[in-house]
Amino acid sequence: MTESHPAGCGAGRFAPSPSGDLHIGNIRSGLLSYVRARQTGRRFLWRVEDLDRVKAGSAESQLEVFAELGVEPDEPPLVQSARTAEYSAAIAKLAADGLVYECYCSRKDIAQAPSAPHAPPGAYPGTCRSLGEEERESARLRLEANNRQLALRLRADNREHRIDDVMLGRVDALVDDLVLRRGDGVFAYNLTVVVDDAASGIDEILRGDDLASSAPRQAYLSKLLGLPEPGWVHVPLVLSESGQRLAKRDGAVTYQQLRSLGWTIEDVFAWMQQSLGFGGDSRRWRSVDDMVNGVAFARMSSAPAVFVPPTAP
Ligand code: GLU
Repeated sequence: MTESHPAGCGAGRFAPSPSGDLHIGNIRSGLLSYVRARQTGRRFLWRVEDLDRVKAGSAESQLEVFAELGVEPDEPPLVQSARTAEYSAAIAKLAADGLVYECYCSRKDIAQAPSAPHAPPGAYPGTCRSLGEEERESARLRLEANNRQLALRLRADNREHRIDDVMLGRVDALVDDLVLRRGDGVFAYNLTVVVDDAASGIDEILRGDDLASSAPRQAYLSKLLGLPEPGWVHVPLVLSESGQRLAKRDGAVTYQQLRSLGWTIEDVFAWMQQSLGFGGDSRRWRSVDDMVNGVAFARMSSAPAVFVPPTAP
């Protein structure tokens, strides 16, 4: 199903966390990312975001599901756990520009600190931003005594940053002093996506719109790192009947569960067509090629879809 594209052209990607089986909403976002790449002549790449919450075998099984649906990435997947040197180098570059500081706060410290004026809800209150060397030294000793590690934060100073999104238009957000490396030593999501997308030549990111509010932070971080900012396409999520983000507890929501209840691959694409608002089109989608031909992003519904899990007959 993969087509060859000239080297050097742009790329899109799907970057699921290998934390279990994908549900139909994750699959819809991944398929849309593939569709968009094919429609715009980009390569379609895959990234295994395995720095956190990994379930053994899940990365392989996610790739197998997509292969069954007719989608294979154009290059071997990029695996985040093999890229810690690149993430360290990015932090070193920011640090050389005076943009990194150590943070000794626990979650509780942050929750209890008074928030800075004009800061977005949940933003880091800036407790460790301007400590002197002596205060830092005693904070380090305090952490060590409690068996905790310090985190590294970006000195961003709550500035506003804007992105332009194909589906959502303009998205503005305040960028707070986000975490670059967490207190448990794991490189933070906002840093790793920016480093990896640039390294892979990803020039357009399509993903679920639950991540839209992270995009201005990521765009700002790429600017600081001197990396090109990708284009953005945040697509609506799939919700459960109760209006919550779809989850495994909602019943038969994974590809494997749906197949075991008798869904065919054609049924998967029929549901994609109907849920994306193209159910009225005369051509039925039976395969990913039909989906590539059938999706019109300009006409796509921007409302979330609801998935009602089937039950055993
Ligand atoms: N790994 C993230 C997730 O599964 C997606 C990251 C992204 O697309 O930027 O939610």
